[in-house]
Amino acid sequence: MTAATTTPLEPPCPDCQVGIGKAHIEGCDVARCLATGLQRLGHSESCRCPRDVWTGRWPGESECLEFGWMLGPDLPDLNRLLTTAAWDPVAHRWTRPGHQDTTAEGAPR
Ligand SMILES: [Zn+2]
Ligand SMILES: [Zn+2]
Repeated sequence: MTAATTTPLEPPCPDCQVGIGKAHIEGCDVARCLATGLQRLGHSESCRCPRDVWTGRWPGESECLEFGWMLGPDLPDLNRLLTTAAWDPVAHRWTRPGHQDTTAEGAPR
């Protein structure tokens, strides 16, 4: 597959189609629960987290970029994020655990 030639600069959410900066429509696959960082579809009805906003990037993608957790130039290691990083329910972002980093993968210093 070659990249689409008409990639918009500000793509709408692939699921609920809202524009960047807009809250996902309830029931959107992409929206996260801001209390847990997990898929919003899975959060409990009593959860009172605010609406998640579409940023133009897949949830967690910017954190993967920041942490250097990439499987390829355009392929964030979201799996690693979900299994290794901790969700910060205040900042609404993933944080890297500071002291649990294994050096098995040989992070360059
Ligand atoms: Zn959405
Ligand atoms: Zn929630």
